[in-house]
Amino acid sequence: MRKPIIAGNWKMYKTMDEAVAFVEALAGKLKESDKTETVICPPAPYLAALVEKSKGLPIRIAAQTMHEETEGAFTGEISPAMLKSIGVELVVLGHSERRQYYNETDDSVNRKVKSAFEHQLTPIVCVGETLEQRENNATSAIVSEQVKKAFAGVSETDAASAIVAYEPVWAIGTGRTATAEDANKVCGQIREVLAELYSDSVAQAIRIQYGGSVKPGNIEELLSMSDIDGALVGGASLDPESFAALAEAG
Ligand code: PEP
Repeated sequence: MRKPIIAGNWKMYKTMDEAVAFVEALAGKLKESDKTETVICPPAPYLAALVEKSKGLPIRIAAQTMHEETEGAFTGEISPAMLKSIGVELVVLGHSERRQYYNETDDSVNRKVKSAFEHQLTPIVCVGETLEQRENNATSAIVSEQVKKAFAGVSETDAASAIVAYEPVWAIGTGRTATAEDANKVCGQIREVLAELYSDSVAQAIRIQYGGSVKPGNIEELLSMSDIDGALVGGASLDPESFAALAEAG
Protein backbone atom coordinates (compact mmCIF):
# COMPACT_ATOMS: atom_id res chain seq x y z
CA MET A 1 0.00 0.00 0.00
CA ARG A 2 1.30 3.43 -0.95
CA LYS A 3 0.82 6.00 1.80
CA PRO A 4 -0.67 9.23 0.40
CA ILE A 5 1.66 12.21 0.59
CA ILE A 6 0.26 15.73 0.84
CA ALA A 7 2.79 18.47 0.12
CA GLY A 8 2.15 22.20 0.50
CA ASN A 9 4.09 24.39 -1.91
CA TRP A 10 4.12 27.88 -0.41
CA LYS A 11 5.89 29.38 -3.43
CA MET A 12 6.99 32.96 -2.62
CA TYR A 13 4.52 33.58 0.18
CA LYS A 14 4.74 34.19 3.95
CA THR A 15 7.14 36.00 6.23
CA MET A 16 9.30 34.12 8.74
CA ASP A 17 6.85 34.87 11.56
CA GLU A 18 3.93 33.65 9.49
CA ALA A 19 5.83 30.49 8.54
CA VAL A 20 6.58 29.63 12.17
CA ALA A 21 3.00 30.42 13.24
CA PHE A 22 1.72 28.15 10.46
CA VAL A 23 3.74 25.16 11.69
CA GLU A 24 2.54 25.73 15.25
CA ALA A 25 -1.08 25.96 14.09
CA LEU A 26 -0.78 22.93 11.82
CA ALA A 27 0.86 20.83 14.54
CA GLY A 28 -2.12 21.59 16.78
CA LYS A 29 -4.57 20.42 14.13
CA LEU A 30 -2.87 17.24 12.87
CA LYS A 31 -4.23 14.15 14.54
CA GLU A 32 -2.18 11.09 15.23
CA SER A 33 -4.08 9.21 12.54
CA ASP A 34 -0.99 8.71 10.39
CA LYS A 35 -3.21 8.33 7.31
CA THR A 36 -1.06 10.55 5.13
CA GLU A 37 2.46 11.90 5.07
CA THR A 38 2.61 15.68 5.42
CA VAL A 39 5.23 17.84 3.74
CA ILE A 40 5.71 21.61 3.68
CA CYS A 41 7.78 23.33 0.98
CA PRO A 42 8.57 26.77 2.43
CA PRO A 43 10.64 29.51 0.78
CA ALA A 44 14.38 28.85 1.09
CA PRO A 45 15.14 31.43 3.84
CA TYR A 46 12.93 29.52 6.30
CA LEU A 47 14.03 25.97 5.52
CA ALA A 48 16.53 25.58 8.37
CA ALA A 49 14.21 27.13 10.96
CA LEU A 50 11.27 24.98 9.88
CA VAL A 51 13.37 21.81 9.90
CA GLU A 52 14.13 22.61 13.56
CA LYS A 53 10.54 23.62 14.32
CA SER A 54 9.09 20.42 12.82
CA LYS A 55 11.37 18.05 14.73
CA GLY A 56 9.22 15.53 16.59
CA LEU A 57 6.17 16.52 14.52
CA PRO A 58 4.66 14.48 11.67
CA ILE A 59 5.76 17.17 9.19
CA ARG A 60 8.64 16.87 6.73
CA ILE A 61 10.30 19.78 5.00
CA ALA A 62 11.02 20.07 1.28
CA ALA A 63 12.82 22.71 -0.78
CA GLN A 64 10.99 24.20 -3.78
CA THR A 65 14.00 23.83 -6.08
CA MET A 66 17.79 23.42 -6.00
CA HIS A 67 20.86 23.77 -8.19
CA GLU A 68 22.27 20.57 -9.66
CA GLU A 69 25.90 21.12 -8.58
CA THR A 70 27.20 20.31 -5.11
CA GLU A 71 28.97 23.69 -4.88
CA GLY A 72 30.44 26.35 -7.13
CA ALA A 73 30.34 29.93 -8.39
CA PHE A 74 26.58 30.14 -8.90
CA THR A 75 25.52 33.34 -7.18
CA GLY A 76 22.16 33.11 -5.48
CA GLU A 77 21.75 29.37 -5.94
CA ILE A 78 21.21 26.68 -3.31
CA SER A 79 22.93 23.32 -3.64
CA PRO A 80 21.69 19.85 -2.69
CA ALA A 81 24.58 19.56 -0.23
CA MET A 82 23.38 22.73 1.51
CA LEU A 83 19.84 21.39 1.75
CA LYS A 84 21.11 18.10 3.13
CA SER A 85 23.33 19.88 5.66
CA ILE A 86 20.32 21.62 7.25
CA GLY A 87 18.17 18.49 7.39
CA VAL A 88 15.90 19.04 4.40
CA GLU A 89 14.63 15.67 3.17
CA LEU A 90 12.83 16.32 -0.11
CA VAL A 91 13.01 18.72 -3.03
CA VAL A 92 10.42 19.74 -5.63
CA LEU A 93 11.99 19.61 -9.10
CA GLY A 94 10.70 20.80 -12.45
CA HIS A 95 7.65 22.68 -11.13
CA SER A 96 5.91 24.29 -14.11
CA GLU A 97 6.69 27.77 -12.75
CA ARG A 98 10.40 26.86 -12.77
CA ARG A 99 10.06 25.53 -16.31
CA GLN A 100 8.10 28.62 -17.43
CA TYR A 101 10.02 31.45 -15.73
CA TYR A 102 13.49 30.02 -15.09
CA ASN A 103 14.13 28.06 -18.26
CA GLU A 104 14.17 24.64 -16.62
CA THR A 105 14.05 21.93 -19.24
CA ASP A 106 13.59 18.17 -19.19
CA ASP A 107 17.40 17.90 -19.37
CA SER A 108 18.10 20.21 -16.45
CA VAL A 109 15.34 18.53 -14.45
CA ASN A 110 17.01 15.18 -15.15
CA ARG A 111 20.40 16.48 -13.92
CA LYS A 112 18.73 17.80 -10.77
CA VAL A 113 16.87 14.53 -10.16
CA LYS A 114 20.14 12.56 -10.38
CA SER A 115 21.89 15.09 -8.16
CA ALA A 116 19.11 14.92 -5.57
CA PHE A 117 19.53 11.15 -5.31
CA GLU A 118 23.32 11.51 -5.07
CA HIS A 119 22.71 13.69 -2.01
CA GLN A 120 20.06 11.43 -0.49
CA LEU A 121 17.26 13.91 -1.13
CA THR A 122 13.89 12.59 -2.32
CA PRO A 123 12.79 14.40 -5.48
CA ILE A 124 9.19 15.34 -6.13
CA VAL A 125 9.37 15.36 -9.91
CA CYS A 126 6.74 17.61 -11.50
CA VAL A 127 5.32 16.90 -14.93
CA GLY A 128 2.23 18.13 -16.74
CA GLU A 129 0.86 19.45 -19.99
CA THR A 130 -0.14 22.99 -20.97
CA LEU A 131 -3.69 23.84 -22.02
CA GLU A 132 -2.61 23.99 -25.67
CA GLN A 133 -1.03 20.55 -25.43
CA ARG A 134 -4.16 19.17 -23.80
CA GLU A 135 -6.38 20.66 -26.50
CA ASN A 136 -4.11 19.06 -29.12
CA ASN A 137 -4.60 15.65 -27.42
CA ALA A 138 -0.88 15.59 -26.62
CA THR A 139 -1.19 15.09 -22.84
CA SER A 140 -0.13 11.46 -22.81
CA ALA A 141 2.82 12.00 -25.19
CA ILE A 142 4.08 15.11 -23.37
CA VAL A 143 3.80 13.65 -19.88
CA SER A 144 5.38 10.32 -20.92
CA GLU A 145 8.31 12.17 -22.48
CA GLN A 146 8.78 14.33 -19.38
CA VAL A 147 8.82 11.24 -17.15
CA LYS A 148 11.24 9.33 -19.40
CA LYS A 149 13.63 12.28 -19.58
CA ALA A 150 13.42 13.07 -15.85
CA PHE A 151 14.32 9.48 -14.95
CA ALA A 152 17.01 8.89 -17.60
CA GLY A 153 20.04 7.34 -15.90
CA VAL A 154 18.29 6.97 -12.53
CA SER A 155 18.82 3.54 -10.96
CA GLU A 156 15.92 1.24 -10.09
CA THR A 157 16.66 1.53 -6.37
CA ASP A 158 16.62 5.32 -6.47
CA ALA A 159 13.58 5.50 -8.72
CA ALA A 160 11.53 3.37 -6.31
CA SER A 161 11.78 6.11 -3.66
CA ALA A 162 10.91 8.99 -6.01
CA ILE A 163 7.67 10.93 -5.94
CA VAL A 164 6.08 12.17 -9.15
CA ALA A 165 3.62 15.07 -9.19
CA TYR A 166 1.25 15.20 -12.15
CA GLU A 167 0.32 18.86 -12.42
CA PRO A 168 -1.57 19.95 -15.53
CA VAL A 169 -0.26 23.49 -16.04
CA TRP A 170 -3.74 24.83 -16.84
CA ALA A 171 -5.01 23.70 -13.43
CA ILE A 172 -2.30 25.36 -11.33
CA GLY A 173 -3.56 28.39 -9.43
CA THR A 174 -6.54 28.73 -11.76
CA GLY A 175 -9.31 27.14 -9.71
CA ARG A 176 -9.75 24.63 -12.56
CA THR A 177 -9.15 21.05 -11.48
CA ALA A 178 -8.82 18.05 -13.74
CA THR A 179 -11.68 15.67 -13.06
CA ALA A 180 -10.61 12.92 -10.70
CA GLU A 181 -11.07 10.41 -13.55
CA ASP A 182 -8.90 12.42 -15.96
CA ALA A 183 -6.21 12.97 -13.34
CA ASN A 184 -6.26 9.28 -12.46
CA LYS A 185 -5.97 8.29 -16.11
CA VAL A 186 -2.82 10.36 -16.59
CA CYS A 187 -1.36 9.15 -13.27
CA GLY A 188 -2.02 5.59 -14.49
CA GLN A 189 -0.20 6.35 -17.74
CA ILE A 190 2.74 7.72 -15.75
CA ARG A 191 2.82 4.47 -13.77
CA GLU A 192 2.83 2.49 -17.03
CA VAL A 193 5.81 4.50 -18.28
CA LEU A 194 7.63 3.84 -15.00
CA ALA A 195 6.85 0.13 -15.33
CA GLU A 196 8.35 0.14 -18.85
CA LEU A 197 11.43 2.01 -17.62
CA TYR A 198 11.92 -0.16 -14.54
CA SER A 199 9.53 -2.90 -13.49
CA ASP A 200 6.00 -3.36 -12.24
CA SER A 201 7.13 -3.50 -8.64
CA VAL A 202 9.09 -0.23 -8.93
CA ALA A 203 6.15 1.46 -10.65
CA GLN A 204 3.83 0.21 -7.90
CA ALA A 205 6.17 1.60 -5.22
CA ILE A 206 6.41 5.13 -6.65
CA ARG A 207 3.90 7.61 -5.28
CA ILE A 208 2.20 9.81 -7.85
CA GLN A 209 0.58 13.01 -6.62
CA TYR A 210 -1.96 15.13 -8.42
CA GLY A 211 -1.58 18.92 -8.30
CA GLY A 212 -3.76 21.72 -9.62
CA SER A 213 -6.31 23.62 -7.50
CA VAL A 214 -6.61 20.85 -4.91
CA LYS A 215 -8.72 21.95 -1.95
CA PRO A 216 -10.60 20.36 0.97
CA GLY A 217 -13.69 20.02 -1.26
CA ASN A 218 -12.03 17.81 -3.89
CA ILE A 219 -9.25 15.96 -2.05
CA GLU A 220 -11.33 12.96 -0.96
CA GLU A 221 -12.45 12.15 -4.48
CA LEU A 222 -8.91 12.54 -5.83
CA LEU A 223 -7.46 10.28 -3.12
CA SER A 224 -10.10 7.64 -3.78
CA MET A 225 -8.62 7.08 -7.25
CA SER A 226 -6.45 4.01 -7.79
CA ASP A 227 -3.36 5.79 -9.12
CA ILE A 228 -3.43 9.06 -7.16
CA ASP A 229 -1.26 8.85 -4.07
CA GLY A 230 -1.52 12.35 -2.69
CA ALA A 231 -1.42 15.97 -3.75
CA LEU A 232 0.96 18.82 -4.38
CA VAL A 233 -0.94 21.88 -3.24
CA GLY A 234 -0.30 25.57 -3.79
CA GLY A 235 -3.05 28.02 -2.78
CA ALA A 236 -4.86 25.79 -0.27
CA SER A 237 -1.59 25.02 1.53
CA LEU A 238 -1.21 28.60 2.76
CA ASP A 239 -3.90 28.39 5.41
CA PRO A 240 -3.28 25.92 8.27
CA GLU A 241 -6.98 25.11 8.56
CA SER A 242 -7.40 24.06 4.92
CA PHE A 243 -3.99 22.40 4.73
CA ALA A 244 -4.76 20.37 7.87
CA ALA A 245 -8.02 19.26 6.23
CA LEU A 246 -6.02 18.07 3.23
CA ALA A 247 -3.43 16.35 5.40
CA GLU A 248 -6.17 14.54 7.31
CA ALA A 249 -8.00 13.38 4.17
CA GLY A 250 -8.04 9.89 2.73
C1 PEP B 1 1.25 24.13 -7.35
O1 PEP B 1 1.78 25.20 -7.18
O2 PEP B 1 1.96 23.12 -7.50
C2 PEP B 1 -0.20 24.05 -7.36
C3 PEP B 1 -0.77 22.91 -7.65
O3 PEP B 1 -0.89 25.21 -7.05
P1 PEP B 1 -2.48 25.33 -6.77
O4 PEP B 1 -2.83 24.28 -5.77
O5 PEP B 1 -2.66 26.71 -6.23
O6 PEP B 1 -3.16 25.10 -8.07
